[in-house]
Formats: sequence, C-alpha cells, structure tokens
Amino acid sequence: MAGAGLNAQRERITAVMRRLAKVIDGLEAPAVEKIAEEQRDDPFQVLVATMLSAQTRDAVTASASRRLFRVARTPRSMATLTPARIEKLIYPVSFYRNKAVHVIGACKQILSRFGGRVPSTMAELLTLPGVGRKTANLVLILAHRSGDNICVDTHVHRISNRLGWVNTRTPEETEQALYAAANRRWWPVINLYLVTWGQNVCRPVYPVCGSCAIADLCPRIGVAKIGKA
Ligand code: SF4
Repeated sequence: MAGAGLNAQRERITAVMRRLAKVIDGLEAPAVEKIAEEQRDDPFQVLVATMLSAQTRDAVTASASRRLFRVARTPRSMATLTPARIEKLIYPVSFYRNKAVHVIGACKQILSRFGGRVPSTMAELLTLPGVGRKTANLVLILAHRSGDNICVDTHVHRISNRLGWVNTRTPEETEQALYAAANRRWWPVINLYLVTWGQNVCRPVYPVCGSCAIADLCPRIGVAKIGKA
C-alpha cells in the first residue's frame, strides 16, 4: 500500500485505537499485562508468565504464574527446581511438561550467557529455549519498555484481519504487515488493546458485533456468525 492509501489506512487504525483506548478501561486486562504491572515490570517474571501463557486461558496462566513465583522468582532460584516440581506448580497450563523444561533451560541460559539478566534484544531473546517472536516482543514491550515492537498473538492476528488492517495468514505475517500499516505510536499497545477486545468482545467464535464499540469502523471481514451480547 502506498501514499494516500497508506495514510487512509493509518487513519482508520488510529480511529479504532483511540476508541479502544477509552472503552477497554474497566475490562479485564490480559494476564501477562497484569503480572507485569504487579511485578513492576520485572523482565524475568514477564518472560516466564508469557512462556506459560501460550495456548492457555488467561485465568490459568495467572494462577499458574503466581504459584510458580511464590516458590521461585529469579533465574537462579528457578533453575534449581526440577522439571517435575515446575510441572506440578504450573499444571494445568497447556503443554506444561514442555514448558517446564523450557523454563529451566531458559533460566540456565540467562545465568550462563547473560549474567542472570533477561536479554533486551530480539536476537538474544530468540536464542532462549521456548521463546518465539510473540514472547520476545511482549518482554521487550512490557519489561524493557520498547516502543519498536508489536506483539502479535492469535487475538491480534484475528482482529487485525477482521478489521481489514492486514490480509495475512499467520501471526508472523501480521506482525510485519502491522509495522507497515500502523502509526508507530500504537505499536506497543496494539497487543494490550486487541487482546483485551478479543477476550471480551471480538471473540474467536461468535464475536458480539451487535454491542461492539468499534462496529461502525469494522468491515467484519471473515465473520460468519455473530454472537449475542
Ligand atoms: S464489529 Fe465484530 S468483528 Fe468487528 S471488531 Fe467488533 S466484534 Fe470484532
């Protein structure tokens, strides 16, 4: 998209983001955002909570993270736990066995290669076991205060396509398309706004378009069935 088309698209995105900034106030925030706030943006806890959150309901992520952090809240203390202990603490998050192994592996790498600190670059974060772009972007945004990243999970991917901001097949493609489409000021909050909207209104199935505050700005691309408020 070039020139006038790009500017018009940016304005459409800005209009939605401005409206969402007002209406998400008071809605339940995503679990990792709440953990980041509670733990004063501690990069290690943001990293671990995000690793646990993959394909897991928010309430489950929140309680599993709290149980784990009550026992260990630094890479050094967490690296001493056995996979079985972590599994027990984080159950029933999805893939809890793999995640337990990845968490311990990440702790060991953070200690041996990064002096006990969670790295602050995408390239370094991606070398940690179990860390993909979604996790790395969220750690950079929430814990390292980056304004240069967009974190795309399934909610951001789905809603960006429904809104017609992007036309993409994967979250990775959506991330790249959003860097081109959205004004930079929105990059760090796209995840917060769209995940909150996706969990409360623009759900994966049966989105409640009838009571959606951005319905007049949304072409509802690909939405076949609408839910009741
Ligand atoms: S109008 Fe429907 S599809 Fe569009 S953002 Fe709202 S809930 Fe989602």
